Amino acid sequence: MSESNSRRSPKVIAVANQKGGVGKTTTTINLAAGLSEFGYKVLVIDFDPQGNASTGLGVSPEARGKTSYDLLLEQALITDLCQNSTVPGISVCPANADLASADIELVSSEKRSFLLADAVSEASFLAAGFDFVLVDCPPSLSLLTVNALVAAESVLVPLQSEFFALEGLSQLMLTIRDIRKSANPRLRIEGVLITMADSRNRLSQQVEADARANLGDMVFATTIPRNVRVSEAPSFALPVLQYDPTSKGAEAYRRLALEVISRRSSGRAA
Ligand code: ADP
Ligand code: MG
Repeated sequence: MSESNSRRSPKVIAVANQKGGVGKTTTTINLAAGLSEFGYKVLVIDFDPQGNASTGLGVSPEARGKTSYDLLLEQALITDLCQNSTVPGISVCPANADLASADIELVSSEKRSFLLADAVSEASFLAAGFDFVLVDCPPSLSLLTVNALVAAESVLVPLQSEFFALEGLSQLMLTIRDIRKSANPRLRIEGVLITMADSRNRLSQQVEADARANLGDMVFATTIPRNVRVSEAPSFALPVLQYDPTSKGAEAYRRLALEVISRRSSGRAA
């Protein structure tokens, strides 16, 4: 099932939304787990100074060594800083608080928006044979998110099913349009993912209906339900797919992985 032998370059997906707490990190971790269950080799790049994706995949703060900061500021190679996670098939480029100052430190660098793009097209990284690279973006449209969008083939946008969810989306869409014009014409929307949905809550249903009415095909068929097992899993340094494989959350993220795989195979992204 894995296509790692075909040696095509990995598909880089930025998981982005400038709002915090919408499910970016949760989606990065669990989509990675879903893809790896289907035989794909996945790299998670933690691009949030909070380092939650690193912790959630079992790379503790003490074990971090070189981080995404070194990738951006020291031209460290991804292959030199990525580490094994608790899940076979998933590697992690960890992050820590150092990353918070990267924006400021890079202001005078001419190539500042292209650093991640360069890192994922470099030979030793391509030779490592990853199928997917998921970039967990911080809750802002900072230089870190810009680097992710410039490096990515597509952007996956988690949308929490709550009031005002759609409001922040237009700003992100404008940023995507700017980046298409200036640095990355091939950038596509992988899809908008409705997260933390509660089928018994009318407001949650309404937000989902509005998103589907306004964004149509762009919204993944899969909706991620609010599920306590999903929120418990990171404290065990595991994706919910390992922590409770038959939970509703695990099943939903598995379906999401299948949608992402089928979009990759068909070359389609909305
Ligand atoms: P972000 O990375 O966008 O800031 P997180 O992925 O960290 O968002 O999620 C925010 C909070 O919501 C976390 O505490 C997480 O455990 C919780 N959460 C995310 N998705 C779910 C879900 N489907 N069910 C229950 N809790 C969730
Ligand atoms: Mg996060």
